[in-house]
Amino acid sequence: MTKIVNHWIGGKTVEGASGTHGPVTDPATGEVTTKVAFASVDEVDAAVAAAKEAYLTWGQSSLAQRTSILFTFRALLDANRDAIAELITAEHGKVHSDALGEVARGLEIVDLACGINVQLKGELSTQVASRVDVASIRQPLGVVAGITPFNFPAMVPMWMFPIAIACGNTFVLKPSEKDPSASLKIAELLSEAGLPDGVFNVVHGDKVAVDRLLEHPDVKAVSFVGSTPIARYIHTTASANGKRVQALGGAKNHMLVLPDADLDAAADAAVSAAYGSAGERCMAISAVVAVGSIGDELVEKIRERAEKIKIGPGNDPTSEMGPLITKVHRDKVASYVEGAAAEGCEVVLDGTGHTVDGFENGHWIGISLLDKVPTSAKAYQDEIFGPVLTVLRTETYEEALDLINASPFGNGTAIFTRDGGAARRFQLEVEAGMVGINVPIPVPVGYHSFGGWKDSLFGDHHIYGNDGTHFYTRGKVVTTRWPDPADAPAGVDLGFPRNH
Ligand code: NAD
Repeated sequence: MTKIVNHWIGGKTVEGASGTHGPVTDPATGEVTTKVAFASVDEVDAAVAAAKEAYLTWGQSSLAQRTSILFTFRALLDANRDAIAELITAEHGKVHSDALGEVARGLEIVDLACGINVQLKGELSTQVASRVDVASIRQPLGVVAGITPFNFPAMVPMWMFPIAIACGNTFVLKPSEKDPSASLKIAELLSEAGLPDGVFNVVHGDKVAVDRLLEHPDVKAVSFVGSTPIARYIHTTASANGKRVQALGGAKNHMLVLPDADLDAAADAAVSAAYGSAGERCMAISAVVAVGSIGDELVEKIRERAEKIKIGPGNDPTSEMGPLITKVHRDKVASYVEGAAAEGCEVVLDGTGHTVDGFENGHWIGISLLDKVPTSAKAYQDEIFGPVLTVLRTETYEEALDLINASPFGNGTAIFTRDGGAARRFQLEVEAGMVGINVPIPVPVGYHSFGGWKDSLFGDHHIYGNDGTHFYTRGKVVTTRWPDPADAPAGVDLGFPRNH
């Protein structure tokens, strides 16, 4: 029987009334296993109304109440790591260990939210003028929305809602329609943890649901993570509707390898970061830039390692890499490899013909490695979002830096070297939001913020860390005078207030 995934509004599941559903596929078998309800405008309005109603009390609740619920949620999340990872694997396709990793990184943000009292501490200046004190405080915004991508169905929502609700906001999540089940499990755990009804809501759907969130007058802020064209659209539309927006987009992450690098360590890192999660990570390394004479040796080391990767269903513990999310996406990824030779690339490994016995209808593609890739090739210019690693060659560090900085994307980047001076130069000169030094996927820990530059992020705030608290609160400054009863009345003074 096909499973149905419904909305979560006001603390309970709500059947999709519009009657519109989308298919959810198991990428390993190609079978449609689930139907997900697509929200109409009325259903989105119902979720926003539930969140608005809940805000009346949640916005006034104490920090102690909010963090106590988050601590309970953290314990439930911890106990349910496997259950959530299984839901992710069944709909996304990534291997179980990778799905567990995503839950662990989401949990880091819940940790941060449990300690939100430290971040929400205000500032007080006493006696700024005679008997005058000034306090800066931060207050929640109200109803805020999150719109999230398919590739991290648990972690990316957890980049947003733990901080948003810890700050006193209420939340409406529109997860990816391709793998919606993890978000519903999270909603159930939040409810079990004692979160009042309506504080966290989930509406499933497509553009109809997203557009309603972007224009709804009661939604005060929108957090988005997804591809660059949609991120740009979300930023423009929500901003035009007067909302605060952070919209994180796509990426093309470069790994610069200097001639003095430990080439075995660099090859290990390149293979792990390029092919992990079948390349469907916004922080995946998709372009290695080999500087000087090391190119041939590095490519050979990458090839040796990449060839050994075991591809199979995500729920098989021996699999290291699973299938791609959809058949359409699989074919698109394959097209970059198929066209590569004609564009001047050297095809070292071609994974387009890969199949997995017993899973003939799965969305499989094998490992591809393209060498001597010109910057004009589509395989270099586009975000492929699949297991395709491109290698580019340059003579010097400066040439490599110029190449990386010319990319329209600026999410993550990495340098591999033993030279501290070169690494320091790179961290200051490279135009990207997250830099790894001998670290291929520099996803910041929860208490530092995550975000790219250029076409990888639209808006002023990175996500989580201090930026997250800032994004989900607004500042207020309170100036107070308590006159001494012995003071003579100040009298009328039409001059602009001065401090003395
Ligand atoms: P996507 O942009 O297709 O979808 C993201 C969300 O937007 C989904 O909820 C989807 O339903 C919605 N959406 C899709 N088309 C829309 C439209 N026309 N109008 C309104 N809403 C729409 O992204 P995806 O394919 O789910 O995810 C992969 C992309 O996300 C990659 O580009 C990846 O780099 C990016 N990503 C970025 C980060 C980051 O932190 N920068 C993290 C994860 C993923």
